[in-house]
Amino acid sequence: MTGRIHSIETMGTLEGPGIRYVVFLQGCPLRCLYCHNPDTWRSNDGREETVDGVMADLAGYRGFIDASGGGITCTGGEPLMQASFVGELFRRCRKKGVHTALDTSGYAELSEPVRKLLETTDLLLLDIKHAPGPGHKELTGVSFDRIRAFAKHADAERIPIWIRHVLVPGYTLDPEVSKRVAAFVAELASVERVDLLPYHELGRHKWEALGRQYPLDTIAPPTREEVSAAHRIFEAAGLPVTPPF
Ligand code: SF4
Repeated sequence: MTGRIHSIETMGTLEGPGIRYVVFLQGCPLRCLYCHNPDTWRSNDGREETVDGVMADLAGYRGFIDASGGGITCTGGEPLMQASFVGELFRRCRKKGVHTALDTSGYAELSEPVRKLLETTDLLLLDIKHAPGPGHKELTGVSFDRIRAFAKHADAERIPIWIRHVLVPGYTLDPEVSKRVAAFVAELASVERVDLLPYHELGRHKWEALGRQYPLDTIAPPTREEVSAAHRIFEAAGLPVTPPF
């Protein structure tokens, strides 16, 4: 079985516990205004790779991965666009005793391949981009409905979930939005951790390299006080939010 891969990072430390072998899948149906990987959007770019090829390469890093309590993380782009490939990769990893993490926006139909993929997922890193309702489509280009159904299904399957949520001034850095996001996350019993990530401009150069106008040109990262205020809202909702600094 083959998939389209943008790139592989062999020593990831931010995409789950321990040292991660991180596979960036090519293709994404969202168009987040702050996207730091716009070069993953087009489904036909990247390179074709087999599950066997990825497994053979991964084997060379097992020493670091195992010693650190790490594993494999599939991210993107949007890995759910290649659910069959990622599901087969995770199935093989599980057989070899490699911890599997899926980093996703949650935007996909609950198709058979997506359900099967979740059966082989040890940890779900769920990037909640915006709150359900107004503003979601403006920031991401898509509505929240599929994401809600996906998150609820993963929760019902009791898959441990780590939430990521970017605080974007003018979009999600807003007490009313934070309350709506926190209320939705509080409905998910399997959430173990919530990370609030201050918006940064690191993706800007990629937009420029692709000849695109960076949409958040006039937006500066949030202040420490603004980030702390958002944290207090998530804490007040009883969520296991990681300390901000
Ligand atoms: S889901 Fe990720 S890769 Fe896709 S547009 Fe949003 S930030 Fe970019």
